[in-house]
Amino acid sequence: THFGFRDVPLGDKQTLVNDVFHSVASRYDLMNDLMSGGLHRVWKDIMITALDPPRGDRRFALLDVAGGTGDISFRAAKAAGPGFHATVCDINSGMLEVGRERAAKRHLKTQVDFVEGNAEALAFADRSFDAYTIAFGIRNVPRIDLALAEAYRVLKPGSRFLCLEFSTVEMPGLDRLYDLFSFKVIPPLGRMITGDAESYQYLVESIRKFPRPNAFADMIRNAGFARVNWQILSGGIVALHSGWRL
Ligand code: SAM
Repeated sequence: THFGFRDVPLGDKQTLVNDVFHSVASRYDLMNDLMSGGLHRVWKDIMITALDPPRGDRRFALLDVAGGTGDISFRAAKAAGPGFHATVCDINSGMLEVGRERAAKRHLKTQVDFVEGNAEALAFADRSFDAYTIAFGIRNVPRIDLALAEAYRVLKPGSRFLCLEFSTVEMPGLDRLYDLFSFKVIPPLGRMITGDAESYQYLVESIRKFPRPNAFADMIRNAGFARVNWQILSGGIVALHSGWRL
């Protein structure tokens, strides 16, 4: 096929992913709005509602993995009280740099930290966070089971794992429209804005390869999480998975 990313070995996948996000970092937030028609804002808000960070002084430490330019953490900080703190962890320094600038602009530098790191091997102590979020990130991680095990390890007992990710559109009618949009609109739009259609080709392919909601829920359970469930958003374009470390 003409799709370059399909058969890359596991070790090289992370390199490709890194190239993708380095090349789009400065335009990343604009692209999100354009490509989702602003819908990513709605999906992210639904995640924040599920997270439900405390509004008072109670200390609450969020770990936002693959947090990129900080969207989830900023939204959570806005919804939360003064006891809230977020650590954005991402493997890509370019994304983190954009995030730091955004934090400064929003006067959130003390509430939101940016740390370089790999979801598969987190540099945080066991049982150190009150919540773990990963939005549109886990699909990019080569070994998802390792990332889930790490999520479980760093969470305090009684705290929550939340994952927002593109899913599978199975609604008749919408599925064909979505295919058309994915293959005919996204890559050219990506080329127009970032000069890089390949990165967006990768995006579309990685979405297709990601497990169905029930299969992904099994993976979350296998990592040790309890009360695992999920919510389908926008006809299956996105799913929000939830689990608890008890
Ligand atoms: N969560 C942000 C949001 O919703 O706007 C950013 C999502 S962005 C689509 C995906 C992010 O995953 C990129 O910033 C990328 O660098 C990061 N990423 C990819 N592989 C990773 C890994 N192994 N560990 C941590 N972050 C990773």
